Amino acid sequence: MRKKAVVLLSGGVDSSTVLAIAGSEGFEVYALTFDYGQRNKIEIGSAQEVAKANRVKEHRIFNIDLRSIGGSALTGDIEVPKQKEGQGVPVTYVPARNTIFLAIALAWAEVLGAKDIFIGANAMDYSGYPDCRPEYIDAFEKLAGLGTVSGKVRIRAPLMHMTKAEIVARGMSLGVDYSMTQSCYDPASDGSACGECESCRLRIRGFEEAGVTDPVRYSIN
Ligand SMILES: [Zn+2]
Repeated sequence: MRKKAVVLLSGGVDSSTVLAIAGSEGFEVYALTFDYGQRNKIEIGSAQEVAKANRVKEHRIFNIDLRSIGGSALTGDIEVPKQKEGQGVPVTYVPARNTIFLAIALAWAEVLGAKDIFIGANAMDYSGYPDCRPEYIDAFEKLAGLGTVSGKVRIRAPLMHMTKAEIVARGMSLGVDYSMTQSCYDPASDGSACGECESCRLRIRGFEEAGVTDPVRYSIN
């Protein structure tokens, strides 16, 4: 029987790459996407496409409306900044999002008997989200060990120390079709990316640095 893994899948570049990495390691993949009241609802459709293309064993979409907590430009009425922000954690940080997502992934992993949970956390390009740090991932792994019956869960963050260009290059070597993915924090109602928010800028730069020159297909969609 193949080993099972739960993969957090948002429908963006990073989590789509992580999904392919988990598959390449021989895991039977259970993808988990959150409908958490994000501005970017379109990414849920992208996640569905990516999950299907990767022939995951199961793709579950979990509803948890974080708008009732607020505190983030991605879920609340705060505007998504279109320029580089100053010091500190940006307003696009969603309070404790990875803790909430990993907790639910952990519960599902326990039901499935999966010992590996994959997350696209990355400490390189990002602007200091506290729940993307390697220390955070290590600490959650300890918690997962203490808080489950099996006592042994690995939190896998294979992109942690990669630049966006390295992530893109790795994904393309695994056959990831990034035209399915969505990155924009603040897409227009027709789904088109703004091209200006931090996530769009990182994406565009990542593809440029990786030498991908088809902007329509890969940079923004
Ligand atoms: Zn954008």
